[in-house]
Amino acid sequence: MHTAAVEAFIGIGANLGNASAAVFEAIQGLKRIPNTRVCAHSSFYQSAPIDSTGPDYINAVVRVATLLCAPDLLIHLQSLEISAGRERPFPNAPRTLDLDLLLYGSATISSDRLNVPHPRMWQRAFVVVPLAELNPALVPSQVLLGVQQQVIRKI
Ligand code: ADP
Ligand code: MG
Repeated sequence: MHTAAVEAFIGIGANLGNASAAVFEAIQGLKRIPNTRVCAHSSFYQSAPIDSTGPDYINAVVRVATLLCAPDLLIHLQSLEISAGRERPFPNAPRTLDLDLLLYGSATISSDRLNVPHPRMWQRAFVVVPLAELNPALVPSQVLLGVQQQVIRKI
């Protein structure tokens, strides 16, 4: 990968069926995205649903280096969600697989289909705890303090 590659972070969540297997498969799927290299993934975490229902979630965060623009990367993430059988019956429904583009380099993006940094990421322990595992410098200690009431367990 040459120096034009952008470092991006992707949040993975699943809470239907074999959620751990879905997260593992998602990482395998990310490795097949063109012009994109999976550099590292966090531990897997188990968390209670927030603004959602159903069984506990399994979450992880992945660091990639990509030559794709952010909208193209999102299209690949959405096609992986669809391959995993994701349906969207109602907002925040339980999901077989959720892939969120958390950070795309230092870019700020505000469009109809894409907001980066992901708008709610700093309030969610299941995002910031695994993100801090990959790169502590990206997560201010105030952010970690703000989510410390949320139950999340490394598995
Ligand atoms: P959520 O992840 O917030 O629970 P969804 O996964 O159903 O909700 O996503 C709903 C929409 O959010 C998607 O259609 C997508 O266009 C939009 N979206 C906006 N910003 C992002 C982002 N950074 N990552 C992923 N999806 C995003
Ligand atoms: Mg999503």
